[in-house]
Amino acid sequence: MRPSRRGAAISDPAAPTFDRATRNGTLALQLSLRALDLDGEVLTSPFSYVATTSALIWEDKCTPVFVDIDPETLNMSPREAKASLTERTCAIVPTHVFGVPCDVESLSEIAETHDLPLLYDGAHAFGTEVHGTSVFQHGDLTAISFHATKLFHTVEGGAIVTNDDELADRIDLLRAFGHRGNDHFISGINAKNSELHAAMGLCLLPRLPSFIEHRRDMYQHYKEALEGLPLRFQTIPDYCTHYNASYFPVLLPSESVLETVQSALKARDIYARRYFTPSLNQLPYVDASRCPHAEDAARRVLCLPFFQEIRPRQIDCVASALRDVLEDG
Ligand SMILES: *Cc1c(COP(=O)(O)O)cnc(C)c1O
Repeated sequence: MRPSRRGAAISDPAAPTFDRATRNGTLALQLSLRALDLDGEVLTSPFSYVATTSALIWEDKCTPVFVDIDPETLNMSPREAKASLTERTCAIVPTHVFGVPCDVESLSEIAETHDLPLLYDGAHAFGTEVHGTSVFQHGDLTAISFHATKLFHTVEGGAIVTNDDELADRIDLLRAFGHRGNDHFISGINAKNSELHAAMGLCLLPRLPSFIEHRRDMYQHYKEALEGLPLRFQTIPDYCTHYNASYFPVLLPSESVLETVQSALKARDIYARRYFTPSLNQLPYVDASRCPHAEDAARRVLCLPFFQEIRPRQIDCVASALRDVLEDG
């Protein structure tokens, strides 16, 4: 058996000790769900990347139940989560959207009161801290993505963080064929990653703190450059003591303004991305439900260009394009 690490602290939040690296973030979600052996309704965030929902659907016994978001933070609303609980609820799977942490304390309280496992989709949240420690310390498990589009990456990759030894042990088996040597325990798959991907990660990891520092500066520069325009930013709550500045989303006044802005930017060779749309409760293969705040966000959120090498001059150029469109209209 592995030595007990229950409650072990990740002392350097910028470089957490990952329990298990996986082939990608979606597999990190899938292995986590499988390790929890869920059967029933899973409360999840409709404002997330489609993989959060599809991983649930792939587990035949899981039914996603979409919980509306807080319109300020864009994360799962704990109040709505409480209202969505039923006798069939078997887990809570929220996303730390754009790296902004969920209300982890309220969600933990709900999970503990109702004895439900709490699995975070932390694909965006590498480097984010809550009250001075890694956001990955919250919940029973966090699934992370290291895809090339994420803040920290291994080209393709992911990881699962947990302080629960039993879950870690099961994930270890699920991830690598279900056996150790000649001893076979459960039916596993191959969700490991390769040394080559790890090498990519090792090249980037030491530079991560400086990456985040630069991004935080540029995030601030963006906010100042866009001041006075009819748009809104995602709220970063006070309990978030270190934000990783992984994306730069803005909320525009309406979907038609968003479309006008997106094509005006494109005409200047500036590519902004609608991330995420549609709201996942509106996917054609899930049971229809209403999540007005998530649907509204999915219509109005546009992620402006934001990358490691971005410089103030480029941000000013995007801002000036936005100013032309929004002040003209
Ligand atoms: C990228 C992403 C995933 C999937 O990660 P992959 O490594 O691409 O499989 C899951 N959830 C969210 C919120 C993501 O942004």
